[in-house]
Amino acid sequence: MTRTGIFFTYFQGERLRDFPQVLAGILDKENVSYYDAVYDSGYGLYYVEPVSEELLLKVHSQNMVQRVKLTGDYESALYSAGGTVQAANEIKQGKIDNAFVFTSFGDHHAGRNFYQGMCYFNGAALAITALKEKGVRRLAIVDTDCHHANGTRDIFASDNDVLHICLCHQDYIDNHSNVDVNIPYLTSDEEYLATMWREFVPRVVAFEPEYIFWEFGYDATQGEYGDKGLTRDCHPKLARLIKGVAGKVCQGRLITILCGGSGRALAAYIIPRIISCLAELGSYRAI
Ligand SMILES: [Zn+2]
Ligand SMILES: [Zn+2]
Repeated sequence: MTRTGIFFTYFQGERLRDFPQVLAGILDKENVSYYDAVYDSGYGLYYVEPVSEELLLKVHSQNMVQRVKLTGDYESALYSAGGTVQAANEIKQGKIDNAFVFTSFGDHHAGRNFYQGMCYFNGAALAITALKEKGVRRLAIVDTDCHHANGTRDIFASDNDVLHICLCHQDYIDNHSNVDVNIPYLTSDEEYLATMWREFVPRVVAFEPEYIFWEFGYDATQGEYGDKGLTRDCHPKLARLIKGVAGKVCQGRLITILCGGSGRALAAYIIPRIISCLAELGSYRAI
């Protein structure tokens, strides 16, 4: 049975207002572990740990960390990135097989020396850096947020051991394992999924990563601020595709990180279905 960890951080904003309550039917499953940074939800058995400053400074510049401290969002940013680092560590230790990480601020617009777009620290980059220190060599990131992952690309641009496949607004490919795929406006779920099968699946299979990180944003959904025409049911289908690939190439080691998207109702619809897919629960299956 697949063991799934949920790493929950929520400090402000509308989109996660229905969480974790909307996950009530999932959190009581024996193969689901809930890690809580809120402390008073009543569901948590484990705590989310903030990322350490020592690790932060291996990815981000001291100057940038200082600037984030001045924003007033520093603590929330530490927990947002910390969930991803902890998820990777729990998987490495064999405690869970895959994870869904909630963030208040994350992830892919945070580079070595800059932050923007509600992303302060790059949780995936921090987790990958920590895993590499423990001997993990090859890792893959797939990014289905509607925007280009400029921060993640900044950090791993010349790292041949990190495959970075970003579905965004441009076509790009280089010989350092970086790929951008242009997603046109008014695309359909079927076209998007076909693009994933064509551009993501063969590359990640050939790359043979030990872990896959999925930067999951729902901002390309109809009515969202990055609307590209996707329906809300596209994302659970993506989860099934990516989970299937992770099962084939890296023993299911998959860390899903919440990125863009603003709608509260969409979050409450999509996220439980993705977690349900990760944990192989039947009840939320919308596919
Ligand atoms: Zn891109
Ligand atoms: Zn975005």
